[in-house]
Amino acid sequence: MLNPKQMEQDTNRLFPEDWSIHEKSAVLLGGRCETCSVRLFPRPTYCPKCLSEKIETITLPSEGVLYAFSVVRLDSTQLKAPYAIGYVDLEDGPRVLAHLLGWEEGLLKPDMRVRLNYGPLPSRVSSESVLTYKFEAYPGGGLEVTS
Ligand SMILES: [Zn+2]
Repeated sequence: MLNPKQMEQDTNRLFPEDWSIHEKSAVLLGGRCETCSVRLFPRPTYCPKCLSEKIETITLPSEGVLYAFSVVRLDSTQLKAPYAIGYVDLEDGPRVLAHLLGWEEGLLKPDMRVRLNYGPLPSRVSSESVLTYKFEAYPGGGLEVTS
């Protein structure tokens, strides 16, 4: 596991306790129950499966499979549309809700492999850039090419 003190400090990350940037790559920080071994994201204060409070912080896999996604076309109070969000099933890990890259190009499909990246949040309320973790399709990752 990465030592959080060794990670690059980025002052403008959304939910900075849930992820970091290490050598220009995003790193998700989840939890692992020391009693029943379930892996969780975000890291809870107690295990929802066995109620243990012994939750260690772990680095989660950076690749997974896109379970489902949706393109949001209406602004919310804080986010500027359009943008895509979806659920990603991490390898040996939990299902993570995240923003997605590549939806504008039509690259995303359910059951495709995606990898972790990061980028600016489409904020309506802040002119300064706020970063968040995002998943993207990648070459060789099971991307289906249609013509
Ligand atoms: Zn547990």
